[in-house]
Amino acid sequence: MCVSKDNEDGQDSHQQGPREACGVVAVYGVDNAALTLYNGLFALQHRGQEGAGMVVSDGKILHTCKGMGLVSEVFTGDFAEHLPGRIGIGHVRYSTTGASKTVNVQPFLAECRDGMWAIAHNGNLVNAGELRDRYQKQGAIFQTTTDSEILLHQLADPSYFGQRDRIRAALAELCGSFAFVIARPHCVYAARDPWGIRPLSLGRLGKGHVVASETCALQQIGAEYVRDVNPGELIKLDENGVKSLRFADVPVGGYGQCVFEQIYFARPNSHVFGQSVYMTRMAIGRTLAQEQPCDADVVVPIPDSGVLAALGFSHASGVPFELGFIRNHYVGRTFIMPTPQSRRSSIDLKLAVVPEAVAGRRVVVVDDSIIRGNTIQKRIEALRCAGAREVHVRIACPPTRHPCYFGIDFPEANDLVAAGRTEEQICALCGADSVGYLSLDGLKSTLTGAEHYCYGCFTGRYVCGTEHVVCKHALERSGLDQLEERHHRYGVMMQ
Ligand code: SF4
Repeated sequence: MCVSKDNEDGQDSHQQGPREACGVVAVYGVDNAALTLYNGLFALQHRGQEGAGMVVSDGKILHTCKGMGLVSEVFTGDFAEHLPGRIGIGHVRYSTTGASKTVNVQPFLAECRDGMWAIAHNGNLVNAGELRDRYQKQGAIFQTTTDSEILLHQLADPSYFGQRDRIRAALAELCGSFAFVIARPHCVYAARDPWGIRPLSLGRLGKGHVVASETCALQQIGAEYVRDVNPGELIKLDENGVKSLRFADVPVGGYGQCVFEQIYFARPNSHVFGQSVYMTRMAIGRTLAQEQPCDADVVVPIPDSGVLAALGFSHASGVPFELGFIRNHYVGRTFIMPTPQSRRSSIDLKLAVVPEAVAGRRVVVVDDSIIRGNTIQKRIEALRCAGAREVHVRIACPPTRHPCYFGIDFPEANDLVAAGRTEEQICALCGADSVGYLSLDGLKSTLTGAEHYCYGCFTGRYVCGTEHVVCKHALERSGLDQLEERHHRYGVMMQ
C-alpha cells in the first residue's frame, strides 16, 4: 500500500503519516442534503483526498456527483442545484483496496429489482476476494476494483430477496472493518462492523439526522451529537425517526476499535469511541514524558500529527515547547506530481526548520509514529543542519512492527523500520541521539475501555481473521481500466 510520512516514492499528500481509508456521511430529513453533505465531507477531508462523491435522493431517484480530487475540487459551482433532496450519502476516499482511479470513487450506485441503492464504505473487507469470486462464478460483472462493491452485489442477490431484512443478512457475511452508509429513495441506513474497528457517530440536525465517521463532521454541519452507532448495529433513518437493528452479536474475542484513530487519524476536535481525541493525545504526550524522560532544552513537534503529544510532553516534563518545524500549506498534493524526484523534493518543501528555535539546543522531537523510518531520518538531518546540538526522538505509540488489514495503509512488515529491530537499532538507523517509544501499557492507560481496542499493528494479534486478506490491487483487472475512460466528472457521473 502506498503511503505514509515515510513513503519512499513520495506519495505523500496533505497528511504525513499512515493513511486512513475514507470517511462517510449520511443525512436524512435535512433542508439541503447536498450542501449538508458537502460541509460534512469537507470536515472529513483528512480521511481521504483522492476522490469524493455524494448521492442525493429527490424522493424517487438517486442522483450522484463524484470525481477525483479534494471535496472543493469535485463539488464546484452550482453542483447542489443538480442534486435536489433531503436525503443522501457522501464519501471521501483514500484507497486501501482498488487503485486510485475515477471508477473506484464512491458512492456506488445500482438499480436492483426493487429500485435504486447507493453505498459508501470506510474500512477494509478481508473476505472481499472470496465473496467476489463467488459472485463472479455466478456471472456477476463488477464495475470497480474495490472491496466495497461486494455489498451492492449482495443486495442485488436474488437468494436474499426472500429474506425480510436482506441488508442485515448481507452485512452478517462480511469480515473486516466497515462503516457503511446506504441510500434508498426514501431512507438511509448506516452500519458498523461487529468489532467496531472504524468509528461512526449519529447526530441530530433540526428534525433530521446525520451520521458521520467523526463528530468533527457533525460539528461542521451544526448537528448535535446523539450517540455512536454501535458495533454490529444497523440503523435506519426514515420518516419514523431512528430504528436500531442488530446484524451481529458481540464477537467472542470482544471489540477492536482502531487505536490509530486516537493516535493519528481522527481530527483533534472529534470524539471517537466516546473519547476526546485532543485530550487523548495530550495524555499520550504526558505519559510519554514520564516513560521516556529526556534531558533537553526544547520539545519540538512534527506538525501536525505530533503537536498535541509534544504539548503534553512539554507540560509533563517542564521542557519548553517550540515550533521547530513550520509547515508549508501551499505545496499541494505531491501524489499528482509527475516524477518520484519531484514528489520527493515537494515533501522536503513541506516542513522547514526554524533555526532560531533549535540552534545550539538539545532538541526532543515528538511524532505520532515511525513507519518506514526514512522521513524521520530526514527531519533529524535537517535539525542537525540547523545547528541542533542533540536530537532525541520520542514516539507517541509503541513500535509499529506489523501491517494493518483493516483499512489503514501501512506497508508490508518488511518495510516497517521497527519490524525485527530494537529501539537502539532504529536509533542508529535514523541518526538520532536517542529514540524512545510509548509502551503498550502506557498507551492503554490513556484510553477509556482500553480492552475494546485493536493493537494489531503493535502486537500482531488481530481482532478478526486475516487468512483471506485482500491487498490493495488484488481486485484489479486490466479491462476495468477502460471503464475509467467513460467516466467524466460531470458527464457520466451525473445521473
Ligand atoms: S492493526 Fe493498527 S491500524 Fe489496523 S485497525 Fe488495528 S490498531 Fe488500527
